[in-house]
Amino acid sequence: MTNQDIFKRDGEYISHTYQRFPIAVRCGHGASAEDFDGNSYVDFGSGIGTNSLGFCNEGWVKAVSEQLRKVQHTSNLFYTLPDVMLAERLCRETGYSKVFFGNSGAEANEAAIKLARKYGREKKGEHCNQIITLKNSFHGRTITTLAATGQDSFHQHFFPFTEGFCYVSADDRQQLRDAVDSSVCGIMIEFVQGEGGVTAIDKNYAKYVEEVCIENDILLIVDEVQTGIGRTGTFLCCEQYHIRPNIITLAKGLGGGLPIGAVLMDDVVGEIFQPGQHGSTFGGNPVVCAGGVEVLNQVCRKDFLFNVSSKAAYLKEKLLALPGVVEVSGLGLMIGVKLAEGMDARLVASRCAESGLMILTAKTKLRIMPPFLGLLHSVAHKDMEATLGVKRGVFSDCHAPAFPDAVQRPGR
Ligand SMILES: *Cc1c(COP(=O)(O)O)cnc(C)c1O
Repeated sequence: MTNQDIFKRDGEYISHTYQRFPIAVRCGHGASAEDFDGNSYVDFGSGIGTNSLGFCNEGWVKAVSEQLRKVQHTSNLFYTLPDVMLAERLCRETGYSKVFFGNSGAEANEAAIKLARKYGREKKGEHCNQIITLKNSFHGRTITTLAATGQDSFHQHFFPFTEGFCYVSADDRQQLRDAVDSSVCGIMIEFVQGEGGVTAIDKNYAKYVEEVCIENDILLIVDEVQTGIGRTGTFLCCEQYHIRPNIITLAKGLGGGLPIGAVLMDDVVGEIFQPGQHGSTFGGNPVVCAGGVEVLNQVCRKDFLFNVSSKAAYLKEKLLALPGVVEVSGLGLMIGVKLAEGMDARLVASRCAESGLMILTAKTKLRIMPPFLGLLHSVAHKDMEATLGVKRGVFSDCHAPAFPDAVQRPGR
């Protein structure tokens, strides 16, 4: 079996919704992976921030496989232990009161939107159902979370979208004030806009959003699907913003690589959902939750998050020293790299892939979200420039702005 065999069959049978890099990952360990042709890679993407402990972390594999041998699923008509353990751990770590489990970030946001609407309706009447989001946001791919996403490029093809969303520019206080009236039940933001280009929003602005919410009895929802679970150097990113939202949504890194979404609710919203008002067949799946507990066991260990921050600082310093790197954005190990004029991030990422580095993009930037573990070996013990493929010309060759179909998957 070779990479080509897999590309071909993928092209034949899998719906063409992704523009994949030409690597078929056969196996991985920590921050290293191997493809079906025997090439090896350093992983700077961690499955878009999902494999927080790296590929096949020993403790995580043990937790997941032990649970797999006990019970894999029961539906939510019965009780199980792992979801209770994970919810309890999440509440203890964060001070939140209740958790709802789904399977993805979009589902977590859907649940948050439902909570805000029910809250608004009960508190202020049926006209109170509008949710304000930011113009450069990303909240998911369902029809409603696409509507919540404030980028016009996502509001195409699939009309009609869900009503009841309005968008304001981050940092524009006046726009926010103008958008707030008695019809608004929630404001939903990300602290670091991941898909939007790894842009951290201003802390004073975020604080202002919180004040507006408190003054007007509007629920503050923070989408920490990408920023949560240690990614930015604190367990939740809101710790760094000194903000306490009513609702926090989590997903990506929480499962360590298995699908999960979670909604953290404070006392104000913890009792809004009543039996039958929300649910998910797979939500709180015991195998996934057992893995999630192990992710928390490791991430919440003393010094772990400090290490995330120091790795981030090291990485940023090295990145800034590379030719072609203009600016480094983001927080913690959620890093955006702005490239010099004329350099195409997607092309650079493709060259990186050819040179043995799995790396992501966000809009016009490179996006680096390495696993928390394993990186130490890959980065500290390897020459950073070699890791980024600079010596093979990955960065310096990328001035050609034309982006060919080179990364189009074969079989199309
Ligand atoms: C990835 C992401 C989502 C969507 O998560 P899925 O698991 O793909 O549904 C939502 N919000 C943010 C901020 C994300 O980064």
